[in-house]
Amino acid sequence: MPWGSYLKPRSLGNLFECNNSASSNYTLSSANKPVSRKPDQSRHIEIHRLRLDVWGGCLNVRKMRGGTRNSMHSWGIALDYDPQNNQLKWGSDRATFAQPDYNKWWEFWEEEGWVSLGRTRNYDWMHVQAAKL
Ligand SMILES: [Zn+2]
Repeated sequence: MPWGSYLKPRSLGNLFECNNSASSNYTLSSANKPVSRKPDQSRHIEIHRLRLDVWGGCLNVRKMRGGTRNSMHSWGIALDYDPQNNQLKWGSDRATFAQPDYNKWWEFWEEEGWVSLGRTRNYDWMHVQAAKL
């Protein structure tokens, strides 16, 4: 997978396997852009400091937690990062991804059309998806 060339994930819970359908409006290349847009010289250090190399998962065929609908992870169009510090029910008062350090990171995702549940609904800050709510 493309991120491996400059990211050394600290945790690999799941195989990185995402939907890369040509018919999709969103592709893996759009998932790659937010990560790769940091300046070269400080990129590794910053990504590590911000724990953006802590992988939470992508493809995981399951129902939404507490629900009957399939999760966006079932379709391989959602990514989770650093779940330990951005737990499902945590709001912006606890989730590290709600801190100002991450604003640029989120803007990069949003420019590519991805949606953060944390920024739109203030829960599940670990989660970003390539589908509108
Ligand atoms: Zn998720």
